[in-house]
Amino acid sequence: MLERELIQRCMSDILSGKRISMSDALRLINTSKDSLEYLLDAANTIRREFNGDRVDVESLVNAKSGNCSENCAFCAQSAWNKARISKYPLLSVEELVARADAAKRSGARSFCIVCAWREPSSDEFEHVCSAVKAIRDKVGIDVNCSLGFLNARRAERLKALGVKRYNHNLESSKSFFSRICTTHTWLDRFNTAKLAKEHGLELCCGGIIGMGESVEQRLELAFEASMLEPEEFPINILVAREGTPLQGMNPVQVDDILRTIAVFRFIMPRCILKVAGGREMHLADKQSKALLSGANGIITNGYLTVNGNTAEQDIAMIRSLNLQV
Ligand code: SF4
Repeated sequence: MLERELIQRCMSDILSGKRISMSDALRLINTSKDSLEYLLDAANTIRREFNGDRVDVESLVNAKSGNCSENCAFCAQSAWNKARISKYPLLSVEELVARADAAKRSGARSFCIVCAWREPSSDEFEHVCSAVKAIRDKVGIDVNCSLGFLNARRAERLKALGVKRYNHNLESSKSFFSRICTTHTWLDRFNTAKLAKEHGLELCCGGIIGMGESVEQRLELAFEASMLEPEEFPINILVAREGTPLQGMNPVQVDDILRTIAVFRFIMPRCILKVAGGREMHLADKQSKALLSGANGIITNGYLTVNGNTAEQDIAMIRSLNLQV
């Protein structure tokens, strides 16, 4: 079958409620340069059909930075790595409220409290709960959390406090995971993501591309995450930080990033597909193209240890595409 016929057939299948197979996804992600625009347009059509024109704009706070016990090879915050970052303990409740307020005033629709640790101590968990409550009472913005491994009691507590979404990424496919982390397993991650969902929290569960995985493993990540039916899938593009084992990794080419976003949209037609860390660095002047290739979410005001666009810049970009915030 010709490439464009394949793209057309896969798009029609998705629009009529069918799922794409691994073999078709693999053929799509290997689309030639000649048919690339056709693939991106098809993914854009699927995005529009299932998600409309609103772009999910989220702002993060790195609420506790560095010295994490885990050895994730991509992460500047691992105590095992030597990346130069600002390290600090958990921010005060007042500071977190102020950051949430600033995020709301900048135009972000949601605010995610992210902490670099395997899991919080009891005191740390209580502190984050106090911050969630204060933000909900005083600021009025959707609050999301990314606090590492969860148990049922904590998931229930977060849900009761009104946390909207829990972020716990798979990071990579199951088959690649032991290459990037040995202090916990892919299944540990999968189980926490599943537990968040089972306790009524929306799930944000994505990963990173460009860590040395094969194209098949990149697709495996999307299919494996899709089993959890996440409300949101963030696609991070590796920022190969000096002082981490992945420093020096070749960057993913822009066309391959766009291909990946497009095919992930075929695999997860209904979720918020968010272009996350590495967007500004790797996509440069093609950032808006990502929002016309299947993506419908961004993180604004920078990332955990890397700066990014301001919300003002991002919102202007979204409006210039006739999309809404
Ligand atoms: S568990 Fe999270 S914060 Fe810790 S090293 Fe891994 S990715 Fe970084």
